Amino acid sequence: MQLFDELKTLGHKHIKADKKAGERVPSGMWIACPKCHQSFYHKDLGVYQVCPNCGYGFRITARERLKWLVDSFSEIDDSLETSDPLHFPNYQKKLAKARVQTGLNDSVLTGIAKINGQSAALGIMDPDFIMGSMGTITGEKITRLFERATRQSLPVVLFTASGGARMQEGIFSLMQMAKISQAVKRHADAGLLYITVLTDPTTGGVTASFAMQGDIILAEPRALVGFAGKRVIEQTTHQKVPNDLQDVERVLEHGFIDAIVARKDMKEKLAWLLELHSKGRGANG
Ligand SMILES: [Zn+2]
Repeated sequence: MQLFDELKTLGHKHIKADKKAGERVPSGMWIACPKCHQSFYHKDLGVYQVCPNCGYGFRITARERLKWLVDSFSEIDDSLETSDPLHFPNYQKKLAKARVQTGLNDSVLTGIAKINGQSAALGIMDPDFIMGSMGTITGEKITRLFERATRQSLPVVLFTASGGARMQEGIFSLMQMAKISQAVKRHADAGLLYITVLTDPTTGGVTASFAMQGDIILAEPRALVGFAGKRVIEQTTHQKVPNDLQDVERVLEHGFIDAIVARKDMKEKLAWLLELHSKGRGANG
């Protein structure tokens, strides 16, 4: 029986552990947290899949997150599929595998949800769908979510997890940043609330657009949040950067996000924010 995942046991150097940060929970009985390097029994991750020592939230699929986040959820746009605009080699095979793995048509799950009794348009990106990369369908689904929320006067809650733009869709992927941003603006112009929750990892074009456009930006403990990766920054600037540069605790210190919220408190905190703002809207007419 496998007791330890060999690359994630105690004593490995920080850099090596960081490379593996957030890898899915292995099948062994004991696992080591990629952030604090403490080992623990896999059942101690609990329902929220969180390190019992430092609170790091292991990467989970969108549907796993849904289980403890909502009272009810009605999925939308679950049959859209990318047309593979560049006919990128092996892309169709990769997509088929990701669809089976996640049960999603692309890297984001969208729908209308009740969160502790509060209605919201909800989007959850899935780090298991080609690294949560942003393809044309990701962009289309998020845009449609905002458009529906604007029509129905609903707030939007969006959980981000992304390796950035999807290289197999090239410029079409990058165009999603502008498309979503316009939908976010129209939603904001209607006086509606937009909350983002940054989960591990939120990087690249997603950070550079809708992840950072929330009226309120929350994040999960110890998540990695940044634009370019540490190695790319070092190669570009020819400077060493600290290991914790893109830890969300550091990002909070620099004022890019509003609060770090533990998974177990997430539902309650979101419902509280949603209720607070719906009352505010009502009071202002
Ligand atoms: Zn930990």
